[in-house]
Amino acid sequence: MIKITKYDRMLRSLLKAKRGKNGAIQCSRCGRSYPLDDCAQVHVSHFFGRANWAVRLDEENVDFHCHGCHQYLGANPHIHAEWKREQLGEERYRALVLRAHKTIKELYGVKKGVYLDQWYEQAKKELTDF
Ligand SMILES: [Zn+2]
Repeated sequence: MIKITKYDRMLRSLLKAKRGKNGAIQCSRCGRSYPLDDCAQVHVSHFFGRANWAVRLDEENVDFHCHGCHQYLGANPHIHAEWKREQLGEERYRALVLRAHKTIKELYGVKKGVYLDQWYEQAKKELTDF
């Protein structure tokens, strides 16, 4: 089990602000709606898993999925890949795959710690603009 960090919590808050509507969040696969704070039913779901820091906080790598869809896609990686490719379109999907295979240093030109600090500050700013 991968430890949930303050960055993950910030990402969840930011995505809730960006993707939530009228106090509810929708599963991006089945479309079912859940209350914004129902962490048990609606999960932050990574296409490339949390072990991959290059895209762990990358918004295109992350979806809200209900418990059922998250489990189903986790158990069926080929279907998950097809679903993701369709969701993003070919070009963005390929770009995400490329990002996932690079290092933070290659992507952002700084070490992981610097990148995380910068990402966090940026996310905090974005969140207060909502
Ligand atoms: Zn669902």
